[in-house]
Amino acid sequence: MSDQDFILVDEEDTEKKNNRQDESPEGEKQEVVSAEQSGDNPDEKDDSGYEKICFICHRPESVTGRMIDLPNNITVCPDCMQRSFDAMTNGSVDLNRLLNMPGVQFLNMSDLENLQPKPQKIKKKKEKPKEFRQLNIKDIPAPHKIKARLDEYVVGQEYAKKAMAVAVYNHYKRVATDTMDDIEIEKSNILMIGPTGSGKTYLVKTLARLLDVPLAITDATSLTEAGYIGDDIESVVSKLLAAADNDVEKAEQGIIFIDEIDKIAKKRNSSQRDVSGESVQQGMLKLLEGSEVEVPVGANSKNAMVPLTTVNTKNILFICGGAFPDLEEIIKERLQKKTSMGFNSELKDRFEHDNDLLSRVTVEDLRKFGMIPEFLGRLPVIFSLRPLDKEMMVKILKEPRNAILKQYQKLLALDEVKLDFDDGALEAIAEKAMEKDTGARALRAIIEEFMLDIMYEIPKDDSIGEVTITRKYIEGTGGPVIRLRGQEVPRLE
Ligand code: ADP
Repeated sequence: MSDQDFILVDEEDTEKKNNRQDESPEGEKQEVVSAEQSGDNPDEKDDSGYEKICFICHRPESVTGRMIDLPNNITVCPDCMQRSFDAMTNGSVDLNRLLNMPGVQFLNMSDLENLQPKPQKIKKKKEKPKEFRQLNIKDIPAPHKIKARLDEYVVGQEYAKKAMAVAVYNHYKRVATDTMDDIEIEKSNILMIGPTGSGKTYLVKTLARLLDVPLAITDATSLTEAGYIGDDIESVVSKLLAAADNDVEKAEQGIIFIDEIDKIAKKRNSSQRDVSGESVQQGMLKLLEGSEVEVPVGANSKNAMVPLTTVNTKNILFICGGAFPDLEEIIKERLQKKTSMGFNSELKDRFEHDNDLLSRVTVEDLRKFGMIPEFLGRLPVIFSLRPLDKEMMVKILKEPRNAILKQYQKLLALDEVKLDFDDGALEAIAEKAMEKDTGARALRAIIEEFMLDIMYEIPKDDSIGEVTITRKYIEGTGGPVIRLRGQEVPRLE
């Protein structure tokens, strides 16, 4: 067996990868054709609009990187080739046991001589023209313009929007000028504190879209130091590179959002030494400040076959976000200590009922929470988002450019049906969402639940011209108000 060539194929894995391939972004259909069908000669240098696909994982060359050509028109991607080598050479795999394992089979290259498989190729996606250009200081929108654009999508959170607009404006001014005489402008990485569902991620996504810069979002809990199970810290940079279509220059001016940053705090009140969170914070210091990172191109694992490129994080804007539970207690404690020393101890009570304590956060509070000073020092812009109240929830339902209600209204308008929600209905939805404690995230789930019947029933009956959703309908004690076409008098269902 040892003198034959083997390639290890994990069928389950291959199937997963196939499925993933079907989910190409923007629903673009990728057409798979055999070379025979397409009339191409596979030996020709291929510039016909088709690209090679891996015989094992079925991913196209544009995703895997350059294919390795094997006899009989078989092409294998570097990842699969490497895995096969690894499996055979590191001795950790008992080939005899593997042979009997369900779902794993060996590809015997000599068998392929008789098999003569059809070489497969996949149609290349149309290349978008590269429109990226270097930032020009005059092109950076002024903070008030950035805020105005954010206002179109994000409800409330006025302070957060303003702070973010200024930080981003300064950041890109710094990028565009690179350096100003001897005075080097400091990087304005951001730390956002706010309860879950208050719009942290949404704010960052909206910002990246309107600035037209690539964005990578990652979760601090999945990050580990290099060498441990999980994504190593530098993997966020390779995500950003992928979001920038592997254009290093573009990636170097992008945004990286690290969510759940509070989860890598040092553990408080614990006698054991906790190193996991702290060392991830330590590991991130260089990245936040600016360093050269080697990342694989077109893959998310470094191995011998994948080309590496260097990305400098100096001009990447890092935004960290987290809910920081219990931080309010720390702030309250500090404020109460201060006031109890004076005569105005009645102020103490005020903090008990202040629901915007987070806005008073200081670096010292965050340090107490478990963030290390060096880490906080690299996030000079710190601000908080307010918890959403009922009024804001109602606004989120109807006001943003792509508000959920507007989306449903548009869908029904295509059936020439007018959809309305009366004020009571909106309040009832907001009240239900408030109970769930997951911020605005609950709104969509609630609306989807009761809109299902409406979206199912209305298209059945051509005579319906108008539907009004009421509080009673939301609370399950009545139906929506339906008006038929050409009929003035409302008919209650
Ligand atoms: P988190 O703060 O946990 O990151 P998200 O930003 O993911 O919360 O919010 C979840 C969803 O709620 C968003 O996709 C957005 O549709 C909606 N949302 C939250 N806050 C706002 C807001 N202030 N304005 C408009 N929509 C919001």
